[in-house]
Amino acid sequence: MKVSKISAPKIYLGDDNVLRNHVITYNDEGRILTIEPLESHDLSSVRMLDGYITPGFINTHCHLELSHMKSVADTGTGLIDFLLQVVSKREVNQDYVEQCIDEQDKYMWNAGIMGVGDISNKSDTAKTKSESKIQYYTFVEMFDLWNTSFTENTIKQYVEVLKAFNLKSGDKINLVPHAPYSVTPKLMRYISENTSIEDVISIHNQETPHENAFFVDGNGAFPHFYHQLNLSLQDFIPTGKPSINFALDNFRKNARFLFIHNTMSLASDVQFAINNLSEKPFWATCPNANLYIENTLPNYRELLDAGATMTIGTDSLTSNWQLSIAEEIKTILKYCSYLSFDEVIVWACKNGAEALGFDKELGMIELGKMPGLVHWQFNENEETIHASSVKRII
Ligand SMILES: [Zn+2]
Repeated sequence: MKVSKISAPKIYLGDDNVLRNHVITYNDEGRILTIEPLESHDLSSVRMLDGYITPGFINTHCHLELSHMKSVADTGTGLIDFLLQVVSKREVNQDYVEQCIDEQDKYMWNAGIMGVGDISNKSDTAKTKSESKIQYYTFVEMFDLWNTSFTENTIKQYVEVLKAFNLKSGDKINLVPHAPYSVTPKLMRYISENTSIEDVISIHNQETPHENAFFVDGNGAFPHFYHQLNLSLQDFIPTGKPSINFALDNFRKNARFLFIHNTMSLASDVQFAINNLSEKPFWATCPNANLYIENTLPNYRELLDAGATMTIGTDSLTSNWQLSIAEEIKTILKYCSYLSFDEVIVWACKNGAEALGFDKELGMIELGKMPGLVHWQFNENEETIHASSVKRII
């Protein structure tokens, strides 16, 4: 079996460790064989790169099935108008849908992504995922739009979607709720009872100020959203508490939650989740999508200080310009320069892999693992992350 050797001035291992002047050797499967100091190698046999080497990335939040909807929704409208645009423009030719799914799966691979947590409302992505080099965790996402008369049919519909996926080795799948503002307690409890302690429960969380307003006193723009869809809210009763409490109050305490967006989450929300769950929750940020839809970003400092374990997602091409975790990292560091590359790369690698349970092989450059390797190259005289080009090595 062929063995390759590679080195760069800085090698980020995926957790908070960084090595200088080291050589990684790997076989042609991409499995890491050794990580050793430069001086123990004959330099003529080592491929010397400039810049950084990092592990491949984990994208913890994507909707691959919406890949045909690039540029369909306007930027900066806020979540409610965004959702109404998506609902009204979702249907198109099936061949085109599948072609876009395939293209974006390959795009993500070339952009250095090794694992993806992917929301599916349909089974359109099943074929691409079964043949992909990427490891997928499919979240079959359910919503009954706060109408208990829809709950039974919703369950039937999504159990069929779940059955339509033939998983390749290592891939995972389970049911998840969409968001507190779109799921009845009855459906939330069904999902709680029909998933196990091993399953990751992804849920969109506190993406807009209207979500908390809806739960606290029934105000904000969600009543208008339901009115626009000609749906009654007769089953909805405000709880007087933030939306995250609704999800946790109707779910098993031993669930492994992955909270998505958290744009409006406060320290008290993070602490409430940590204190009320026996398993550590993970928090996915999708900064480009937050800028696309709401023109805002989460307060990362507040989330981190409250103990949040962060991961990074791209969301879908409906609300992003590309599906690239490197671009999400660049955005975070551009708008929140109080954070460092050393800090954020951990979100994209080790934390993401742990959040999806893919950490046996992915997320860390470690002996015996196959994390993929990514090269961050900088333009001469311009050593900034924003100007770097990012390429997959293996
Ligand atoms: Zn999403």
